[in-house]
Amino acid sequence: MKELLFNLQIDCESTQFALQNPDLGERAIRGLGEIFEATGTKGTFLVIPGDIAVHASIYQDLENAGHEIGLHYHPWIKGRSEFLGTEGPDEQRSLLKEAMDRFAQVMGRNPLAFCPGYASANDHTYGILEELGLTHGLVSFPTRNLPQCACVWGDSPLDPHYPHRHFRSLVGDVNFVDLPLTLDPQTRMWGGASPLDLRVEMVDAKNHFYTIEKSVRRQLTEQTPLLQIRALTHNIFEYGDPQNFRRETYEGIVEGARRIAEQEGLVFSAVTAAEIAVHYRESVPHKNAQSASPALDLRGRQFSQS
Ligand SMILES: [Zn+2]
Repeated sequence: MKELLFNLQIDCESTQFALQNPDLGERAIRGLGEIFEATGTKGTFLVIPGDIAVHASIYQDLENAGHEIGLHYHPWIKGRSEFLGTEGPDEQRSLLKEAMDRFAQVMGRNPLAFCPGYASANDHTYGILEELGLTHGLVSFPTRNLPQCACVWGDSPLDPHYPHRHFRSLVGDVNFVDLPLTLDPQTRMWGGASPLDLRVEMVDAKNHFYTIEKSVRRQLTEQTPLLQIRALTHNIFEYGDPQNFRRETYEGIVEGARRIAEQEGLVFSAVTAAEIAVHYRESVPHKNAQSASPALDLRGRQFSQS
């Protein structure tokens, strides 16, 4: 029986300058740890350097409990930039290297998983991630069009893939497994600029159910190398409170994903993003990766925004 891989990514940034609420961040990640235990699911915590420094021991405990800890990063350079995608290759390399070093000082190893804030990236980014030894993560955001955040992806692939070395929206041979969120390119949010995605805080569990169902059916029809659902949240909600709406929404998402797995004859399998990347690498060995001709896949065209 085929598996439906399921993962929640948590962007952890409770110490960022606009929030500065590490106590809330701590309650959120501890609460999520409990929810994962209760729902039998796994988290991928991608953490900014400021948060990893103050919540080090909790992240070590979460890692020991089978969850994944990696790097989330916003430049937040005063007076210059808060978007990775507006930085040149040398700046990106040194900013990320510094953030990785801060992560390594706390965790005793380099991060392997990575996600830039706002999914902001440019055509230099993937090659630099590969060079720095990052192996997987969420960089692309199919159909999101936010030039003001240096986040423009067009009809980039909806499923896990090796990205292109020189043009970020294409499939290619960079040794980094890009793992987009589950989203519905046809349902638009934010005045059309971004798709409805499986961000816990975006809508309620009932709406998320339709996004999951549509995505699983599409993956089955297109016979993608693996079947997966990826949700997202942030460590800025009271996940420790059993009555909290975001907590109930996440529990509803898990229940919905389990129901769809059953409906489609699939085995629900809770995993980390790292495990999805491993499954992908087994199905599509990197040595076979190659740069796609843009003419090969025009499915996304029907979703294009004018
Ligand atoms: Zn962020």
